[in-house]
Amino acid sequence: MSVIQCPECGARYTSDDDSCSARFDTLLALDHSRQEPWGSRHGQAFAAFALEHPVRHADSLDTAWDLLYRIYRLHEPARAVIASLRQNTSQLRRGPRVPPRPPTQVAAPRVTIADLADFAPSTYPTQLDAWCQAALASWNAT
Ligand SMILES: [Zn+2]
Repeated sequence: MSVIQCPECGARYTSDDDSCSARFDTLLALDHSRQEPWGSRHGQAFAAFALEHPVRHADSLDTAWDLLYRIYRLHEPARAVIASLRQNTSQLRRGPRVPPRPPTQVAAPRVTIADLADFAPSTYPTQLDAWCQAALASWNAT
């Protein structure tokens, strides 16, 4: 059985049909269904995916960094953070207490989208939090 590894986040897949992109498409469909627990967490999911795939999502990294840092390090309410980012289309503006994003990742993330399996509603919120924390940690967010 051959293993295919994502060159960005390091997730491993055992089927040619399986990949981070394929799983993210599945997750986006859930997000866009506007059902819970996925719909309200789309911002976090997109940000975690972007920070773990910085080549593919280079244009989104600063926004993703700001969003996850404010929610998971400064403990601002997710709804307020996402609302403020929607109002502010300037990509370089950060929350006042958010440090600059490090120029590169410092480590491979310890949780990837592959670890979230099928995004089951009973476990998704907890797994999403772990994924977001791992994405931040891989950028050395203390
Ligand atoms: Zn990946």
